[in-house]
Parts: sequence; structure tokens; C-alpha cells
Amino acid sequence: NNFLAAALPSATYKVIDRVTALRSAGAQIISLSAGEPDLDTPEFVREAGIAAIRSGHTRYTQVAGLRSLREAIAAKFLRDNGLDVDWHNTLVSNGGKQIIFNALAATLNEGDEVIVPTPYWVSYPEIVQLCGGKTVAAQCSAESGFKLTPKVLEAAITSRTRWLILNSPSNPSGAVYSPAELKALANVLLVHPQVLVLSDDIYEHLVFDGQTFFTLAQVEPRLNERVLTMNGVSKAYAMTGWRIGFGTGPKWLIEGMEKLQGQQTSGACTISQYAALAALTGPQDFIVQSRAVFQRRRDMVVSAINRIPGLHCKVPQGAFYAFASCEGLIGKTTPAGTVLYNDEDVVNALLDEAGVATVHGSAFGMGPYIRIAYTLDDDSLAQACQAMHIFCHSLS
Ligand code: PLP
Repeated sequence: NNFLAAALPSATYKVIDRVTALRSAGAQIISLSAGEPDLDTPEFVREAGIAAIRSGHTRYTQVAGLRSLREAIAAKFLRDNGLDVDWHNTLVSNGGKQIIFNALAATLNEGDEVIVPTPYWVSYPEIVQLCGGKTVAAQCSAESGFKLTPKVLEAAITSRTRWLILNSPSNPSGAVYSPAELKALANVLLVHPQVLVLSDDIYEHLVFDGQTFFTLAQVEPRLNERVLTMNGVSKAYAMTGWRIGFGTGPKWLIEGMEKLQGQQTSGACTISQYAALAALTGPQDFIVQSRAVFQRRRDMVVSAINRIPGLHCKVPQGAFYAFASCEGLIGKTTPAGTVLYNDEDVVNALLDEAGVATVHGSAFGMGPYIRIAYTLDDDSLAQACQAMHIFCHSLS
């Protein structure tokens, strides 16, 4: 199929495959490439999964998910985001990724445009491509904090624009939009009624320095009928392998997504749905603890990066990534004799010669940068930063 042929495999999975191959050949690699918390799923959530198996909750659920989970999702949207959601207008999927896929597959016609601000999560343009759409990359600069501005948004909108994808906190930049910034974007969107908005809030709970998270539909209720708010348990409760994501949006859209999912994967894993129900309705202290852990690691990693010659990083406000410019390394030669022409060369050399795995920024639509995921313990992070420092220092 032409759409498939033109799509790229995930750049992050590619790095992970290389790390696995190097490790099985005996190399010591510290991987800063994984987009998942290294923490364990909270004990009570795991127990809820086990209890679901023991109680025989091992059959299909409705396509859109267990009613109890959908009610808990509606309650979560009210509790955390001030969104008054009817549980009928929620959908449970196999990870947030399937919510995105469902939404785009249900709505895009060939050639429809999807505005994706750079730097973006690697999967957005590929999902757009697989659904027959065309990605319009809206260039956001480091000066604007890697955030979309009303001016750039306005310039990117055409009569073919079907979606805008917003991701705050952002993977890979860690940028977090303030209510005022969201409001300013909303003002542009209000005059372009053909544009739907996907608000990818998967990193919602990982915001630092005492900031409060806001989502678009909360800031501008007049956009309610056009916003799909997506979230999930992967990052918030360290549940990446359970594969539960969810969304809420206009009835027609949720129904279309459900129809599609019904012919594709059916309802998400029943056991995982029970575990997600426990996560959303149980004590929320894991969120507070993991936020503190990641903020401490961020501080450590960002200050270490900013001491490395040739690397430079803004302080990210959320998620668990540092997005560092490696412009100062371009054109240099490694001890093994490799010339670093671009950020992919930097990432490959860091892997081969320093034993540290990162992901090149150009895979996220913005080079020359590297994305560093601080999803490891303090000692490993310190070791990785030291290895990167020695490597960068050794370039000529
Ligand atoms: N959105 C963003 C920005 C992500 O980084 C990820 C995972 O890496 C997802 C969505 C999907 O997460 P999941 O499918 O595990 O819910």
C-alpha cells in the first residue's frame, strides 16, 4: 500500500533495536532513549490486574471500554481538567496511540492537512501518512520555547486543514503551554471552524516547578465540539505495557472512532482496563512522587548537559526529556575518525564511542538536536552525562 510504503518506522524503536543488538554483542550501553518511566506500576494497580484475572474478568468488554472505567475517565477529566464530560463521549483504546490513530483514520480524506508543530513526537507524521493525510510541519523555534505561536498557526492553516495536533507537556521538548498561550491559539482556531484539535495530554502530570497543567478544551470551552482530548495511564502511572489510553471529544467523532476500533482491535485488554480503573480511582500519591523524582533528575541532567562543550539545553518544564542543541558539535571529528555532519551522526557516535543512546532531533522534525530521556536512576544518569562529557571533550 502506498501510504504504508511512504511511512517510516518509529525512530525511537530503531534506536532501541540498535541498543539491543549492541548489548547482545557484549557492549555496555546506557540508554537515554526510552520514552517510558523506569518506575514500577504502583503495587495496588498491579494487584487490581491480578484480582481481575482471579475474578474471571477475562472476557471481551464493550468496544468503547468498561462502563465503570469510562465513568472513571469522565470523573478524571472533571477532577483534573475541569471538563464536564458525559461518559458516553469517552473511548478506551490500546494506548493513547490508538486514540490518535482512530481519530485520524476516522476523519482524514486523502490530501487533508494536519498541522504538527515542531519538534513533534515521531509518530504523529507517520500516523498522518498512514491515514492518507499530509503533515504540515509548523516550525517552532527555541526562542518561542519550542511552542506554537498564533502567527505560525495562522500561517499554517489552509482550507484543507483538518487537524492541529497540540502536545503539552511536549515530547521531545518538555515545553508546557500556559493558559494564556492556549487562549491565544484558541482565538485563531475560533475563526477556522474546519479545524479539529487533538490535544495530546499524555504527560499531563509531569509538570515541574509548581506549575499547573491546562488543556485546550478547558481554556476555551467554545472549542469543545472540535477538540479531542487524549490521555492515558502509560506515563502517569508507569503503565506503558498495559496499553490503556483514552479520549473524550464530540459525540460524532467518538462514535466514528469506536466503529473503527470495533472492526480492528475491539475493546482494550480487559485485565488492563481493571488496572487502569484502579489507577484512576485509587490514591494519586504515585503521581506526586514520580513528579518529584523526574524534576530532581531534570535538574541534574540539564545542568550536566549545559556543562558539556558543544551541547546546550533549555530547562524543560515537563515530561521526562531534555532536548539539547548539538550545533556546537557539528563539523567536529570523533577519536575514531568520524566527521559529525548532522545530529544523526552525533547520536550514532555517542552510541558507538561513548556507549550512550539518545535520539536525534531531526527525527522529531528539528535538528541539530538530541533528545535525552532521563528515565533512569541517578547513578546511570550521572554516568551517562560523564561519558557524553568525555566524548564531546575528545572531539577535534
Ligand atoms: N503521545 C506522546 C507525545 C507520547 O510520547 C506517547 C508515548 O511515547 C504517546 C502519545 C502514546 O502513549 P501510549 O500509547 O503508551 O498511551
